[in-house]
Amino acid sequence: MSLKDRLKRDIAQDGPMTVADYMWRCLLDPKDGYYSTRPALGADGDFITAPMISQIFGELIGLWCVQVWQDLGSPERFHLVEIGPGDGTLISDILRAGRVVPDFVTAANIVLVEPSLPLRAMQSARVPHAAHLGDIADIPVDVPLIIIANEVLDCLPARQFIRRESKWHERRVGLDDSGELIFGLSDAPSDFMPPPNGEEGQIYEISPAQRLMAQILSDKLKTATGAALLIDYGRDAPGSGDTLQALYRHQKFDPLDAPGEHDLTVWADFPSVAATAQRAGVAASEIITQSVFLQRLGIVARLEALSAKNPDRAEVLSRQVERLIAPEHMGELFKVLCLSFPKDLTLPALEHSKPTA
Ligand code: SAH
Repeated sequence: MSLKDRLKRDIAQDGPMTVADYMWRCLLDPKDGYYSTRPALGADGDFITAPMISQIFGELIGLWCVQVWQDLGSPERFHLVEIGPGDGTLISDILRAGRVVPDFVTAANIVLVEPSLPLRAMQSARVPHAAHLGDIADIPVDVPLIIIANEVLDCLPARQFIRRESKWHERRVGLDDSGELIFGLSDAPSDFMPPPNGEEGQIYEISPAQRLMAQILSDKLKTATGAALLIDYGRDAPGSGDTLQALYRHQKFDPLDAPGEHDLTVWADFPSVAATAQRAGVAASEIITQSVFLQRLGIVARLEALSAKNPDRAEVLSRQVERLIAPEHMGELFKVLCLSFPKDLTLPALEHSKPTA
């Protein structure tokens, strides 16, 4: 039975499900979930990420990691953790750049957190000595941590609420008269909503899973010390709007069209992630755009150096960098946030923000 048919059967039996539960099933169903079955990343796949666009992205993050390691006192051993490493491009670029400081590479124990078995195989082919974990809860805390997660928060489901007659109702996936999947609203208003007000029809999202990731990473950092760098498309200030999106071969579809076959994402809610971390007692950095972050890390100088060495590739390299930092491409939609402990740990290219709570 297809995932779509199983979802319909479950809804017929148990009633409509929340958008978050629908996303979980579509992404991680063990048999037919998107990430369980199809590692469709890259130009021929469904979506392309920053490390796949340009090697400079991973190299700059690699140098960022080296600097954090030095600021932590150059520990003899630390866990270099990547959450959701995709096809393994980012971690291999990080390690290649890290070779400028050989002790950094020697000290690094590579840990990859990846629920998808097909993606684990691709990552092992690139970084054979990496250990795999299925869940961030299992990240070891015996030595300091440097954690990277690019485009992972957006895979973590959100619940959605819609304002109707001065009350928030949860958006759910149910069945229409002919038994097809359809979005609807809970009859009873929800008592679980932060903004007391809102305009009729407004949509508000909350991602308990993104908050839980922030909580777990914060607890790990508090025990082990270190930093977690989170990069994703998302908001840098609280706001409303429906950000649920289905992508297949670089095109947008209705999220109910093909459960398990299309990638489903929501925006990273960086203000909630930062607030959760601060409540848990770790430092949250300012939330800045990918463009500002990469420029502070010297992307322009790196582009010039690479272009001078490879004049025939100069135009291609410059176009790649443009995609990473231009406002009309990834530069402004993508944001960067770092969680760190001890709270006064200096971070390259990022200031600490003031606690909000
Ligand atoms: N970071 C990579 C890939 C991003 S795609 C890059 O920048 O190219 C999202 C990645 O997150 C995939 O590896 C996916 O399998 C993983 N992922 C999906 N859900 C996850 C979860 N709940 N916990 C950890 N990783 C997850």
